[in-house]
Amino acid sequence: MRLRNKPWAPEEIANNPHLIIPNPADHKNKWKDYFNNDNPLYVEVGSGKGQFVTGMANQHPEINVIGIEKYDSVIISALELMQQLELPNVNMLKEDVQEITDFFGENEVDRLFINFTDPWPKNRHAKRRLTHEGFLKKYVEILKDGGEVHFKTDNRILFQYSLQSFSEFGFSLKNISLDLHEDGLEGNVMTEYEERFSRKGQPIYRLEAVWKR
Ligand code: SAH
Repeated sequence: MRLRNKPWAPEEIANNPHLIIPNPADHKNKWKDYFNNDNPLYVEVGSGKGQFVTGMANQHPEINVIGIEKYDSVIISALELMQQLELPNVNMLKEDVQEITDFFGENEVDRLFINFTDPWPKNRHAKRRLTHEGFLKKYVEILKDGGEVHFKTDNRILFQYSLQSFSEFGFSLKNISLDLHEDGLEGNVMTEYEERFSRKGQPIYRLEAVWKR
């Protein structure tokens, strides 16, 4: 998702380090100190405009939530949401998910979320998919034993690819749905893309992948 350029965004982001955390590597292995509690940590990769992370944090005050999004023009909307809601348990990182192991230590993350990530349909771009084994390798470095990745997409081909990628890597899959809104999920937090696609009547695919060492 790349919106038009917003030249004021970088300054606004820099002015709100308590919401979009600069130098997240400084907090690696110390996120409990940052949040000042022992609550579980959920991380969303490719958060876009932040509807999911803020919704999740709002619904679950007993959980700390961090979203990662690399584009200024998108994360700026997440900043506005966080400013409105003033939740103590949600932050964003303006970073590339490629570097996720620089920000979180071993066993530091309870659950990862990947929502409506770019499908990169060409085979030669497969490595950029956030469910490619190159990314899964990084996720398992930071996930707790028994930690989970929850994945939602509207893209059938990406879903098929991801089922294979997670299972070949050694994750156990559960709660697979080929039509999330038909099947129902208690407490489902809708993302921007999810609202858009389901309004058009497109099915939403979902899975949970469990990591056991
Ligand atoms: N999760 C949101 C947005 C989906 S669009 C929703 O469901 O509505 C995918 C988002 O992931 C885009 O905003 C894109 O910039 C971000 N993204 C993709 N690859 C990324 C990466 N390697 N690092 C950080 N953000 C990434």
